[in-house]
Order: sequence, then structure tokens, then C-alpha cells
Amino acid sequence: MIKVHFENPEIQEIISKAMIRSFTHGLVTSITSENASISVSDQMLAGFQKQIIFGPIPETLKDSMNILGVISNEVIEFKTHRLTENLHLRSRHLERYDFEKEWNNLGYGRIHKDERSIWGLANSVSLNYCGVFDSKDSSILWFNRPIGPVDGFDWRIIEDFVSCYRWDEITALPALAEIPANYQGAITFRIDCDEAIASGRPLFELYKEHRFPFSLAIKTEQDFGDDSLRLISDILDAQGSIVIHSHTHAPEWGEPSLRAGPKSRGDAFFEASTALQVLNEKIPNYKTTYAVSPFHQNPRVAIPKLVRAGIDGFVGGIICNDPEYLMARGGGVPFSEGIISHSEQCMFHGDCVHPNQDSLQIYFEAIENALKTETFFGYLDHPFSNYHYGWKSEDDRLQAHSRFLNYIDKKEGIWKASLKDTLDFLWDRANAAMNLSGDRITVTYRAKRRSNQGLKARWRGKSHIL
Ligand SMILES: [Zn+2]
Repeated sequence: MIKVHFENPEIQEIISKAMIRSFTHGLVTSITSENASISVSDQMLAGFQKQIIFGPIPETLKDSMNILGVISNEVIEFKTHRLTENLHLRSRHLERYDFEKEWNNLGYGRIHKDERSIWGLANSVSLNYCGVFDSKDSSILWFNRPIGPVDGFDWRIIEDFVSCYRWDEITALPALAEIPANYQGAITFRIDCDEAIASGRPLFELYKEHRFPFSLAIKTEQDFGDDSLRLISDILDAQGSIVIHSHTHAPEWGEPSLRAGPKSRGDAFFEASTALQVLNEKIPNYKTTYAVSPFHQNPRVAIPKLVRAGIDGFVGGIICNDPEYLMARGGGVPFSEGIISHSEQCMFHGDCVHPNQDSLQIYFEAIENALKTETFFGYLDHPFSNYHYGWKSEDDRLQAHSRFLNYIDKKEGIWKASLKDTLDFLWDRANAAMNLSGDRITVTYRAKRRSNQGLKARWRGKSHIL
């Protein structure tokens, strides 16, 4: 069993949920201060064959730690080691952006220099970011950050440590893959229709040629003209999907206590329930329980209200706000129950492509990193309205998407999934509980399955279909 214990209740909740996303309810126990029947003593720790420590480096290990990650010029460089071999880029910026101070297409969160923040470095003077200490019958993995690598591809180091590291000598527990059984990678794409739904048509036709199910996230307070309804119907006929993108696109899901703009007429419950109701009127035979958060903003107070409105999955994740909802793995979220999230912070816009001499290199890096770490990769664009998101024309945009799709099509074993199919699969994955009986992994589900895709796990250096 994996036991999670931190003094700080916020870290306790965030990391417990993160460990469950990777190792499932079946293998993870959260030891909170209220959970008085179990106490974490030094003797208890001494009994563990594997330990993961987030925060300052333990004094006793200072000189004997094998350092795996070093900070140099605001970038963490990972050294070659068994635990870092599944990182494609082998580096992580403390903070980087592709567009304003919002989007990091390379898919990592922000590491503050502020030692008072749980998202900062525990010791900002030290150049060491992470390391491993091995003794004959135990190993300790350490990160110089109170919250660890919860918001980046380097979370894979945690999974590899638990599931495969020294598995022939000390304990190892399976990590649930974020890619369905029988696939090597999984990708989802959507456009966020803040307005002008019908103008997404050319992009839909291009994706259809590439047999990539298309998805729309729709802000429902807008004109659903005949052209829009025809596009929606064609998308659904081609196995695509529609989710809500709130009703008015108010900042912070319209939460009045926060930064909501003048457009907000209610709160997160109003935004989600009205959007679901309007969508139901416009597309009577189609049901969704999924949302894309406006601006990818997810204030904690909004999440239970989304649940109350009937939402049980949302897409978010962005470097500039709500770091607890920028998650390396999709699944259950901290501070709420009964709802999952998937972080998709790769924005495919002319704003990012043209300043780089039309290069798609950042997107290729992002997708390679996702494939190597077995991360379900999501990216987005917008339909044209008065604002063109940096694209020079529809042709210019289609050409860039086409180059990216050709790149994806050259890969083997990729599941190109609609947003609904993505969240259905991640819903099943979040509700799965792995258990071990001898050398076998068994799985039970806590909720009715929604996806026809199966699960797989990594354990003792191998992939296991569950
Ligand atoms: Zn939007």
C-alpha cells in the first residue's frame, strides 16, 4: 500500500488525489490528522522500502543523495538515470510561456522562487531539484518542492519510482497508464466556441479527412443559427462531441466573490446549469455532463457548484491560475468529489506559431513528451470571429493544422479521441481501483463504465493489460 502523509492539509489533499490518479483508490491511503487511528512515526517510516519526500532535503541524506535534477538558468535539467529515462525533454523551466503570461504549450506548471509558497522551491538557494538515495533494502526519492512535480510531465518519475524502480530487489506497485490498453498514445483536440460556432466548419472538414473526431466546447449565450446547428449535427454524425463552455464565459465561472466581470449574472451553478439547459434545447437528443472551463479558470469554490449543476468532468489546466487544477494526470481533483478533470494547456494558435518563424517545433516537443510519458495529450484552437488568434487567414490556419495532423498520422498506435470519449475513458480510469493478488493485478470499478476502452498498468518494468 501507498500511504500519503503531509503536515500541511492542503498538500495532503493535493498529493493524495494525485497519487490516486496514478495508483488508484485500491492502492493509496491518505493519512490525515483527523485519521487518528494511524500515526506516522519514525519507526513506521523505517519499515517502508520506498519513501518519497517533498520539501527540504533531509539533513541525514544531504551528502549521500544521488542528484537527478539540477537547476541552472531557471531550467531544471534532469540527468541520465533509470528514473528520468521516460522524460523526452529532460528539462523543465521554472516558468515559461508561449503566449502572454497564460499558456505554456510544453505542459508544465510554474515553480515559484518564493519559499513560502507550496508551489515554490523548498530551498531556493540550492541548485538541487530532486534526487534518489539507495540503500541495500530501501530507496528514497526527494524533490526540493513541497508539492513535488504534481503539475508536469516529470510526475512520471514518481510513477516509475513506485512501479518499476529496483522492482527485482524491493517493493513495487503498479501505476495505472493514462493511455488505453492497445494504444501507444492518445490525443484529443477541440475548439472553444466563445462565438461564431459555424466558422469552425473548415477545420472540422480537415480533421474529418484525418479521421480525427472533432469536438466543440460551446458558450451557450450566443446565436445558434442554422449553419451552427448543421455543423453540430455533422460533427456528431462523424463521432465528434459537444461540451459546454459555460453560459456567458464569465471569468472565474461567474463566482461573484472573485473577479467576475460585469457580464456575470450568477455563479458557477448558474453558468453550468444554464449552459446545460440551453444545449439540451438546441440539441434535444444529445446529453453531456462535461465542460471546458472559460479561460481555464477553476476557483475552488466553483467546483462543487459544477457538480451540483450536473457536471462531472471539466477540462482546465493553465500555468497562470488555480495551480491545483493543472494536473500531470487526468482524474479526480482535490477539494471536491464526484468530478474529474483533464489538463489541456496546449494552445494551437497563430499567436504561438508565427512568432517562431512558422515552426511547429514546440508542438512536436509537447506531443513527443506526452507520448514518451504516456500522457493523454489535449490541444485546442478557436473558431474565427472578429478575433483571429494570430492566424493570418483560414488557409494559413488550415495549413498549420494540416502539418501537425500529418505529423500525428505518422505515429503508430495513436488513439484520436473526441473530448467526450477522452473524458469517458478518464472517468472509468478515475473510478478504477487496482488491487494485487499475488502476481496479478485485479481491477474493480466504483461507478458504471462509460468507455469501451480498457486500462493498462506499468509494473515491474512491463506493461500489463487489465
Ligand atoms: Zn473560451
